[in-house]
Amino acid sequence: MNDMPCFVCGGKGEKVFYTVEEKKFLSCMGCGLISLEQIPGAQEFYAHYNERYYTKDYAGRGERSFPDFSYRFRFLDRFISPPGNVLEVGAAGGEFLELLKKRGWEVSGVEISEPAVRAAHRNYGLTLEQGVLEDVAYPSNTFDVVLLYHVLEHVRYPLETLAEIRRILKPGGSIIVELPNPTGFDARVSATLLESVLDYPNHLHLFPKNTARRILVQSGFGETACEASFSFALASLLPHFKRGYARAKRTEEGETIIPLPEKYMTLPPQRARSLLGRLFPGMKFTIRAIKI
Ligand SMILES: [Zn+2]
Repeated sequence: MNDMPCFVCGGKGEKVFYTVEEKKFLSCMGCGLISLEQIPGAQEFYAHYNERYYTKDYAGRGERSFPDFSYRFRFLDRFISPPGNVLEVGAAGGEFLELLKKRGWEVSGVEISEPAVRAAHRNYGLTLEQGVLEDVAYPSNTFDVVLLYHVLEHVRYPLETLAEIRRILKPGGSIIVELPNPTGFDARVSATLLESVLDYPNHLHLFPKNTARRILVQSGFGETACEASFSFALASLLPHFKRGYARAKRTEEGETIIPLPEKYMTLPPQRARSLLGRLFPGMKFTIRAIKI
């Protein structure tokens, strides 16, 4: 066990949450934060995001990610218009930024993986900053929106990353954070799904929804919306029960898309999705918070 107090609540009590390949994930008894027992040092951390990581986890996923992006656009469009100045932290091969650019956004991106930075330039002509956010040192009060899609669980010091984002956001600007959900329905009913959420050795910290809210508030943000994806575990069962659900499919990011026949819908699709997401939270959730 670690002697370090929890960086969210300052507590010291922790218990083993799950063990993968003999490595323990510990959960804080004070606030629910889940962390890998041994957080890698700086050198090991940087070395992890090398050519091999890019090949295994990123390369070629651009086109396949596009269906999932529609969910991100819906969430973004609910809160933010017109398009402004956006930074994506962990921009991968620039796929989402490219689509934002086409919609009129002025885009910037940071990406730790050098091969991903090269791919963004090659495929879309985008110039991403290579490294971690804190190394770039953007001027204060620069961005209307900062996007953090599946990034905070990878960083060693999440509070430092959030403090830097708060600094570079304009007052009233938004941060949009998408995170895997370690305590959702899926993670509780399936070891396979839980392990894909924990994603050893890539994920260092996992945030239950309330813990994620708490660190945002601690970092000087006011939360305005949080939406969970609909359970993948339940969704994957539906096709067995209902004809017409057979086309249910899971996207790269873990979101499940179910083309529901019109006659089954008693709510607008977006309402139905968010209601089901609250009842059966799936493998991820998205929070929008503003700089206050
Ligand atoms: Zn804690």
